[in-house]
Amino acid sequence: MYLVSACLAGFNTRYDGTNCLDERVKELVLSGKALPVCPEQLGGLTTPRPPVEFSSGDGASILDSWLDGEKKIFIRVFCCIAGGKPGPVDDAFITKALIKGAEETLRLARAYGIKKAIFKDGSPSCGAGYVHSGGQRRPGKGVTAELLGREGIEVAGIDSLQR
Ligand code: SF4
Repeated sequence: MYLVSACLAGFNTRYDGTNCLDERVKELVLSGKALPVCPEQLGGLTTPRPPVEFSSGDGASILDSWLDGEKKIFIRVFCCIAGGKPGPVDDAFITKALIKGAEETLRLARAYGIKKAIFKDGSPSCGAGYVHSGGQRRPGKGVTAELLGREGIEVAGIDSLQR
């Protein structure tokens, strides 16, 4: 059983209410081989929601600062409106939602004994190989992808699926 980004399976979970359907991922779900999940919805964010990216760093940076001090947090805020410029969003609220979504996704993965996730690249939550940070595309992982990886769950992009 895989965990897959819900938007890749055709669910309209993206920030703008659309999806990024990949037929191979949809087939995995329809055949009972994959469980679709949207970490940002699990974290309590609405759809649609403001597009966000990291102002610097990636999911690892957020988790490192979150874990510092046993969650008596001083959250370093990295989220901002796409383009690298701070926008009219509550950065702390969104950062916490990304972390909550990652934790909920991990709970789901553990409940189903899932060992591998196939995630949408570029997302601040699901990004498996690259993210958008400081207005640029950079190597790195989203918050959920990073947390799952730290907990021993393999995370890959859709390029890992055979065409
Ligand atoms: S958080 Fe993941 S599943 Fe949800 S819309 Fe973004 S990329 Fe897709």
